[in-house]
Amino acid sequence: MAVYKNYVLAQSLDEAYALNQKKSSVIVAGNMWLRMCGLRKQTAIDLSALGLDRIEENEDAFVIGAMTSLRDMETHEGLNACFGGVFADALKPIVGTQFRRGATIGGSVYSRFGFSDVSALLLALDAKVVLYQRGEVSLAAYQKEAWDRDILTHVVIPKGRRAAVQSVRLSATDIPVLVCAASVGPDGARIVLGARPARAMVVADGISPEADASVCEAIAQAASFGTNRRASEAYRRRVAPVLMMRALMACSETQKDGEEECK
Ligand SMILES: Cc1cc2nc3c(=O)[nH]c(=O)nc-3n(C[C@H](O)[C@H](O)[C@H](O)COP(=O)(O)OP(=O)(O)OC[C@H]3O[C@@H](n4cnc5c(N)ncnc54)[C@H](O)[C@@H]3O)c2cc1C
Repeated sequence: MAVYKNYVLAQSLDEAYALNQKKSSVIVAGNMWLRMCGLRKQTAIDLSALGLDRIEENEDAFVIGAMTSLRDMETHEGLNACFGGVFADALKPIVGTQFRRGATIGGSVYSRFGFSDVSALLLALDAKVVLYQRGEVSLAAYQKEAWDRDILTHVVIPKGRRAAVQSVRLSATDIPVLVCAASVGPDGARIVLGARPARAMVVADGISPEADASVCEAIAQAASFGTNRRASEAYRRRVAPVLMMRALMACSETQKDGEEECK
C-alpha cells in the first residue's frame, strides 16, 4: 500500500508542476497502480480539479485529458464511431469495469508499462502526448524515454486511421502475454507489438493492409521478443503473426463498415 503524508488538490498546472519537481512528491491519478507499489511519499498531487477528465473532438483529432478514465474512453460514442469500436474492444479486457473507472489514460501512458494494451492501441493510431513543459511529443518518441517529472496533460489522437487490437492472456483479467495493434490509414497499415514483454513499439509501417501470412511471419522474425514468467520468447514469436493477421483482417472489416462515421 502507498502512504502519502500530505494531499494537495492542485489548483493549477503551474502548482502541480512545481510540487512535482520534488522527489518526495508524486502525481496520483487513478492510484490503481501506485497503491500497489508500497510507495512512501511526502506529497500526493491530485490533478482532478483541473478539467483534465474530458474527451474533446475537433475537425482533425480527439483531445483526451490525462485524467479521463479508461472506462470513459471505452464507452465514448464519438471515439468508437470514429475508430470502428476499437476502444470498446481493446479496453474491455483490462481487469474489470470498476477498475477501468479508476485507471486513467494519463497514468497508463506515463507509466509506459510493457504490457499496456492502451499504449499499443494509441501507438497504432499515431497518438501524440502533450506535456506541460515540453508541449506535444509523438507517443512513439515518448515510449522510448525514461520517466521524468513533467506532467502529461492530454493525449491527441488524429483522425484518419482504423485500428484493431488482439491480445493473448493466460486468463481473463490478467495482463497480456502479447498484444498486437494494427491500424490502416491513407499511407498503408501499421503494426505495433506490445507485451513483448518490453514496451510496445511499431514493428511495421506503410505495409499493404492485405499483407499475407508470409509478410507477418517475416515481421515477427525481425521483431525483438523476450522471456518472462508468462511466456517464452519463442512462444511470443510464434503467436505474433497470427495476431497480426487477425488484427489486419479486423481493420479491413471496420474500414468497410464505417467509412462515413469519422468526419
Ligand atoms: C492489477 C493491475 C492490472 C492491470 N492490467 C492491465 C492490462 O491488462 N492492460 C493495460 O493496458 N493496463 C493494465 N494495468 C494498468 C492500468 O490500466 C493503468 O495504467 C494503471 O493503473 C495506471 O493508471 P492510474 O490512473 O491508476 O495511475 P496511477 O497509479 O495513479 O499513476 C501511475 C503513474 O503515472 C504517473 N502519472 C499519472 N498521471 C500522470 C500525469 N498526468 N502526468 C505525469 N505522471 C502521471 C504517476 O505519478 C505514477 O507514476 C493494470 C494495472 C493493475 C494495477
